[in-house]
Amino acid sequence: MYRMKVLLGFGAATGVSLGLICHQQNRDLKTRAYASCSGLTKGISNPRQIDVIYDVAIIGGGILGCSVGYHLASLDKKKKKKIAILEKGTIGCEASSLAAGTLCHDGNDIKEPSWYDYLSTKSRPILHDLESKYGIELDLIVNGTLTVAETAAEKAYLLTAYKEMKANGSNVRFLSSHDEVAKLEPAVKGGSVIGAIYSPLGGHADPSKVTHGLCEAAEIEGAHVFEGQRVISVNKIGMVQDEDSACRYEVRTSQGKSFWARHVVVCTGCHDNKLLRESFGIEIPVIPVKGQIWVTDVRPSGTLNTVIYNAASEMTWRKIREKESEKITEKKLLPRQANINSKWKNGERMFHHVYGRQTADGTLLFGGDRIVVNDNNGHLDYAVEEERVKENYDFIKKIVPTVGDMYGSYCCYMPFSMCEDGKPLLGELTNAGLNGLWLAVGFGPSGITLGPMAGKLLAETILSTDCEYASADSDSPVMRELDPNRVVRNIISRSKSPDSKLGSQMPA
Ligand SMILES: Cc1cc2nc3c(=O)[nH]c(=O)nc-3n(C[C@H](O)[C@H](O)[C@H](O)COP(=O)(O)OP(=O)(O)OC[C@H]3O[C@@H](n4cnc5c(N)ncnc54)[C@H](O)[C@@H]3O)c2cc1C
Repeated sequence: MYRMKVLLGFGAATGVSLGLICHQQNRDLKTRAYASCSGLTKGISNPRQIDVIYDVAIIGGGILGCSVGYHLASLDKKKKKKIAILEKGTIGCEASSLAAGTLCHDGNDIKEPSWYDYLSTKSRPILHDLESKYGIELDLIVNGTLTVAETAAEKAYLLTAYKEMKANGSNVRFLSSHDEVAKLEPAVKGGSVIGAIYSPLGGHADPSKVTHGLCEAAEIEGAHVFEGQRVISVNKIGMVQDEDSACRYEVRTSQGKSFWARHVVVCTGCHDNKLLRESFGIEIPVIPVKGQIWVTDVRPSGTLNTVIYNAASEMTWRKIREKESEKITEKKLLPRQANINSKWKNGERMFHHVYGRQTADGTLLFGGDRIVVNDNNGHLDYAVEEERVKENYDFIKKIVPTVGDMYGSYCCYMPFSMCEDGKPLLGELTNAGLNGLWLAVGFGPSGITLGPMAGKLLAETILSTDCEYASADSDSPVMRELDPNRVVRNIISRSKSPDSKLGSQMPA
């Protein structure tokens, strides 16, 4: 019998009911803050109005914010920099703790790595470092990923993809029959799978532990973490006289606190897009897409040996990309891709998207459904789509007959942020005249895989602009490809001037 426990409207506040580890301490802002630090108050005529002064204020304590904070603090060997992470709720209270936690990784020697290959490959050693250097447990398991085909067309697609990947140096194998796949992954035995690509370096980790681990390491390295601080405005400070050493922004929170910083990094995921709209009149083109997770009760170890994805979604998205990119601009592509998952033709779903793994505690975790949701002025939709969970379960049962029933399982829907062209936004908003204002958003369904290295790359770039850190990577092709100015620029020209707030928040 099909039964499940549905957590309606699941959101940050209910995170604890799933056993998530959240930083719950009520940190006293005043005890951790300091009124001034050497060099930084230079040029500010009346520092008495300021609650705290930092070199870098990071807005958002998801995996991206924690990764940027950790890397800034750890790369700053002389511990001169003051780093603050400002989180409206608790660390990892949104997508970063409720992701599936699957980690794609197709090899360490890819000849021409895409931005995705680069970030995923370089994120892995960061996770190993958290475990070995700081003793932080992440439940990191490298058991390989399987992308499975159910139809002849999907199998042919996988074979072509495999040949391309192999030629580019990826560490992958092609499994050409049901028996070959079942030998590696007995859970698919007797099901609909007829072939697969196997990536032995893929795996999974507990996303909550990774996010909290990065936060813990950031604090060990000297960063300050403030929970319960919703940032309500960012303003350019009109009083800075010495650009090289002084603060450029004031960050205000709903708790009435005012942080001054030389750099501000916005890592708010799909939340609070209105923050930069209201502060500077610019629109960040990321849309919220809600993703699905459902989890069974505890099963014997080895029920699933690998991480499982299906080929149908990947194949269809690629076809759409190739077909539609001729007709429409690339930047409009991804919402269509995400949307199509929720579209139906003649009463039939056009294709399914699936991911699954067995967690370290023994539960089986699956999902795949995606729905583009409205921002609704910051009020996002977390509602559980019961019928669609059942549908995902029925589909997975065909692929993985050993999944069993759903008794005792829970499910939730959680939004993540996707940029309209499908690529993250990582870099400084220079075209808007907002030097020192950085973005790390739009990591879509891959922020756990990519976030550790994306945070490092951004931290290196921020430090190198202050001539404190020379890194070849900070001027990398990846930073150029993910430069947020590619999509933010045109919108700014239609908006009010980013300088319109200049001076408006000057201390009296
Ligand atoms: C169902 C699902 C499955 C997924 N599966 C995978 C997977 O298998 N592998 C993978 O790699 N990725 C996966 N992802 C994607 C991954 O979860 C995201 O890409 C990643 O968590 C994004 O991290 P973030 O830090 O950008 O955003 P978030 O985690 O959303 O963090 C943003 C933070 O900013 C805070 N914030 C927002 N506004 C303010 C403000 N004004 N002031 C202060 N704080 C603010 C929020 O409270 C939040 O904590 C999945 C996502 C979902 C939803």
